[in-house]
Amino acid sequence: VSESLLQLEPALAQQRFQELGGRGFHARIARAAVLERGLLDYAQIGSLPRSLRERLAAQLPILCSSEVARSSSPDRAIKLLLAFPSGRSERGPGTVETVFIPRRDPSDPRGATVCVSTQVGCPVACPFCASGKLGLERNLESHEILEQFVRARALGPISRAVVMGIGEPLLNLDSLTRALDVVLDEMGLGQRKITVSTVGFPERVRRLAERRPRFQLAISLHTPFDQQRDTLVPAMRGVPIEEVLAAGDHWFERTGRELTYEYVLLAGENDSQEHARSLAKRMAGRRATVNLIPFNPVEGSPFGRPTVQAVARFQGALESAGVVATVRWSRGVEAQAACGQLRLRSADAGAARIP
Ligand code: SAH
Repeated sequence: VSESLLQLEPALAQQRFQELGGRGFHARIARAAVLERGLLDYAQIGSLPRSLRERLAAQLPILCSSEVARSSSPDRAIKLLLAFPSGRSERGPGTVETVFIPRRDPSDPRGATVCVSTQVGCPVACPFCASGKLGLERNLESHEILEQFVRARALGPISRAVVMGIGEPLLNLDSLTRALDVVLDEMGLGQRKITVSTVGFPERVRRLAERRPRFQLAISLHTPFDQQRDTLVPAMRGVPIEEVLAAGDHWFERTGRELTYEYVLLAGENDSQEHARSLAKRMAGRRATVNLIPFNPVEGSPFGRPTVQAVARFQGALESAGVVATVRWSRGVEAQAACGQLRLRSADAGAARIP
């Protein structure tokens, strides 16, 4: 498998361009065209000499992924299923999902949100989530994470990013950090516009807080009860919720960045008034927002989506207890919006299953 432009450090890319008869600054032009404008074809980069463009097109692909499937929903969200060949590292191929989510209001001039994946599969295995169903295959490399941003940028301007696709970001933090550095420094996204979502391993959250993170953090809580969290987030079995919250407090003290606690609302499971009251007690005195996510149905899942009224009641109970609570009605349910669904489906069909 040949290397891609995005895979090469800028200095190496300059060298490759020179080997292909170009100049060092041509590599900088190409990199900027890809990262800033989302151009995926050398032919579109008019400021490069034509003969060089032809040699580049033949010998140095811009990206290494291919688009396996695309689904779009009436609300204009576009979900891509991307396949990565096995790279230099011989870590095996894999497919992940990337979602491009335009602003709700089409006349809003601000860019879209992109949702990216960090792992091929996921080791966390939350029972309501499609991403963990096939287990973890491998971590993505940093250029593979970066490529997802570029593929989204090719669909339109982006101004926000959520690392809420397939995988557990804190288990692949080095690659993620390297990718985000490029996104921040060369694609122009702001530090406050990138949110990384994690199940919240307390030690990792604490260590991360010391590393001058350049993004916002969201922790998936899903219930105020320890026993229930053991089943909803099995990877955290035995870790008391108070420890997760204490790590979140530490993060806020060290970084000054407020946290979001995510809470998937599962009908009849964790959406009772008792849950809301108990969650409000846990949140008391903490400067954090609770983001309620009504469950996105996953095929064959025993869980149900709560009604609009049930969601409003839960949110109301939190707010009357002084907790800031927002609701994220997922976009693109029609586009198989739940994490990992597109990948799961194409695996069922045999299209993307890795032998
Ligand atoms: N591993 C990270 C990122 C996962 S995706 C984490 O757990 O935070 C981001 C959020 O989507 C998580 O809160 C996750 O629990 C939630 N989620 C997963 N499947 C969902 C579904 N079917 N419906 C609604 N939210 C879901």
